[in-house]
Amino acid sequence: MKFLRRIENQTLLAIVLAIILALIFPSLFLRFEVLGKTFLRLLKMVVAPLIFTSVFMSLVHLKDLRILERLGFRTLAYYLGTTALSVFTGLFLVNLVRPSAEITLVETPKLRALSLSDLFLGLFPENVVQSFARTEVIPIIFFAFVLALAALKVGPKAEPLKRFFEALNETLLALTRGLIRLTPMGVFFLVGALVAREGLAPLLSLAEYAGTVVLGLALHGGLTLPLLLYLFTRTNPWGYFLTVREAPFLALSTASSSATLPVTLEVAEEKARIKPEVAGFILPLGSTINMDGTALYEAVAAMFIAYSYGLKLGIFQQMLIFLTAVLASVGAAGIPSAGLVTMTLVLQSVGLPLEGLGLILAVDRFLDMLRTSVNVWGDLVGAKIIDTWFSKEA
Ligand code: ASP
Repeated sequence: MKFLRRIENQTLLAIVLAIILALIFPSLFLRFEVLGKTFLRLLKMVVAPLIFTSVFMSLVHLKDLRILERLGFRTLAYYLGTTALSVFTGLFLVNLVRPSAEITLVETPKLRALSLSDLFLGLFPENVVQSFARTEVIPIIFFAFVLALAALKVGPKAEPLKRFFEALNETLLALTRGLIRLTPMGVFFLVGALVAREGLAPLLSLAEYAGTVVLGLALHGGLTLPLLLYLFTRTNPWGYFLTVREAPFLALSTASSSATLPVTLEVAEEKARIKPEVAGFILPLGSTINMDGTALYEAVAAMFIAYSYGLKLGIFQQMLIFLTAVLASVGAAGIPSAGLVTMTLVLQSVGLPLEGLGLILAVDRFLDMLRTSVNVWGDLVGAKIIDTWFSKEA
């Protein structure tokens, strides 16, 4: 069948099959979980070096650094604007639905509350090698950024360095292309093991809360972002989604924007033909800063916890949730459950108990998959919009 010759379609089919089969034969999937984990490791293997080379190359390729100033502001406006729209959608829905749960905390997560200075210091590498070893995205981007600026200053003497990183970048992308062939198999075992372990029961018990998050994500990903894409670029959103769909599908299975990043870069540059100077910078940055799905989820979850504790939050407190949810999503790393950790910031801002997180743990992985998919889709929409602005400026 022609339909099944495309990796993207095979990936989608693998997700659907894995869900069905894992409900019937859970133990089989648990036994083969290692295959999914192996696939994840292979993806993570390329992430840190690829972030570095793509950011470095996109900067040294810029003909005029002033473009950075002009586009930098708009990029930030896009990131914050779309994230704010997303949180707004979430808050609107949660006020309508008012989901709440009986408080029977089984397990209290041991989380330390994050402070703003933690978030700020986290932008800079303490030690570059350590940042690479831990795949700390922002510090790697920071290092690539300043190193590229220094290389531009050095001029011709730095040419060999540029050529070396260019070659490394191309090679890592070729490697990613090879890994993409394994996606259907990888997601089959990743999703299967997850469904086998968790089943559908938690979803049913927290249906109102999970449903509110899912509806919010669907509205943001299916309406707001496509509308923005069309308004700013006149691109057909559905056509664009079909072109890049491999990345959101993979995000769905990995629940990690970082692990998905190699594929996001590949589809953006090779399939959507976004200029490498733009994609190479915007996508790594977006994968950790621009998290519309995470922000929406944090706001809904905080309100859900408040309702469950029988607290009524007024407009002022909801504005605080709004602001901290945007901030917390910016601070969240592109790894599974990162949003759960940065939510401590949101809860603390309105004085909600951190123990409340215990209420949402059971469905968190499932919601993580969906919000990560929206995060990656938001990055790809952003890359297209910024690419259009870039073409007009360059
Ligand atoms: N897993 C999400 C991501 O990688 C972050 C989160 O936990 O919300 O984009």
